[in-house]
Amino acid sequence: MNITGKTVQLGVIGNPISHSISPQLHNTMIEKTSLDYVYSAFRVREGEVGKALDGMRALNIRGFNVTIPHKITAHDLCDEVDPFAKKMGACNTLVNTDGVIKGYNTDGPGFVRALKYKGVEVVGKSVAILGAGGAAAGVAMALADSGAAVIAIVNRTREKAEALAKKINRYHPNVATACDGYTGVDILVNTTSVGMNSDKSPVDSMDGLNENAVVCDIVYCPRETALLKMAKEAGFKTVGGIGMLINQAVIAFELFTNTKVDEKVVDYLYRMTELDKSIVLTGFMGTGKTSIGKRLCALTGAQFIDTDSLIEEKEGMSIPEIFEKHGEGYFRDVESEVIKSLAGYKGAVISTGGGAVLRRENIDTLRDSGAVIFCLKADIERVFRNIGDNTQSRPLLNGKTMDEARALLESRREAYANCDAEIDVTDCEKEQSADKILELYMGRD
Ligand code: NAP
Repeated sequence: MNITGKTVQLGVIGNPISHSISPQLHNTMIEKTSLDYVYSAFRVREGEVGKALDGMRALNIRGFNVTIPHKITAHDLCDEVDPFAKKMGACNTLVNTDGVIKGYNTDGPGFVRALKYKGVEVVGKSVAILGAGGAAAGVAMALADSGAAVIAIVNRTREKAEALAKKINRYHPNVATACDGYTGVDILVNTTSVGMNSDKSPVDSMDGLNENAVVCDIVYCPRETALLKMAKEAGFKTVGGIGMLINQAVIAFELFTNTKVDEKVVDYLYRMTELDKSIVLTGFMGTGKTSIGKRLCALTGAQFIDTDSLIEEKEGMSIPEIFEKHGEGYFRDVESEVIKSLAGYKGAVISTGGGAVLRRENIDTLRDSGAVIFCLKADIERVFRNIGDNTQSRPLLNGKTMDEARALLESRREAYANCDAEIDVTDCEKEQSADKILELYMGRD
């Protein structure tokens, strides 16, 4: 990215903001479209949205995305509001044209575009929405605007479902109803937070769905939620939550830049974020598996899993304590068990201990689950530089000279060569290594 005095500024405001993947999505679109823009993240505290909007005008920042908790305030403070955002009473996108800030809401339209991307038609369909929170409102209104014939809203708190149905019916009379259940459904959408970072499903069965129904989840961590897994196993087509996240960004980008984002760029965003197979990072101690893994998660929004942490949790003690109390053989057995338990994960970034791939069975387990295994490789000087004085937490390095550590590293070379790809991180920052891994991952097959 070549930033000059002419580069147009974009960004996202929210609090907290560091977890946002909007900068990755937008900067990727900027890179792929070769437009002269740059996109940053700004933490804006509650009560300071007005100042942020003044700053936007003063600094001639072209566009902001707005995330939690500022969407309603942004709607109330901008100069003009697009009709859909007005219906929502909330804005997630602000466009500044010569000091006039216009607010939009691309969340619901992003969901509908994600359906279209997967070939799902909305006109005339019978929809059931689980949940009645902020996201449900956008999804329900956009579906009604797009021609859904019937919308059943099922929510734990019935009054919220009733309020949302009333809101939809104000614009689309008799389309929405608050319900305790549903039947004859063509499109089921989970908009509750149930399933986020857990294996819980918001429903126990696929009852009430038509034969060719589509099951959607707007939760995107993990990529394949328990609901989607259950639906897939029952033979239904599924649409995951990452599509809504991508498409709300694509629509916002189109508003910022007055361009149409090419389908190929959208495909790229899907591939970048929809890890259909887990990425496994292995390699010698101190090669940066955790920091590179977390960077990959920031780039893709994937879930980070560290097998050493799972082992410590399972055994209720630290890794040095496990080595001291039970020895390395015992540790390796527990490690293999933990790796087996990860076989069902799809689309996570999994960091394993450096010795995990010494056992062929572990490589086989990971590969059978479809994971792509990357081995991080660094010379021993870099390893020592990364680890610094912290050798106590690494029982196999504790008290070792550099030559002894080098010999241990050499003894593992053959096992590391069995991985799908080796990435030399000796002279790379974590950002470069993560980019390299992602490019290789996306270019596989
Ligand atoms: P919200 O306004 O807080 O609404 C949460 C909804 O989930 C409410 O309907 C709530 O029911 C229901 N819920 C929460 N816990 C539940 C439980 N244990 N059992 C049954 N229902 C439960 O949140 P939101 O902003 O709508 O977000 C909801 C989810 O959508 C989050 O996971 C968020 O990450 C995801 N999301 C995804 C995208 C995307 O682009 N893919 C965009 C926005 C949001 P009650 O009314 O009874 O409390």
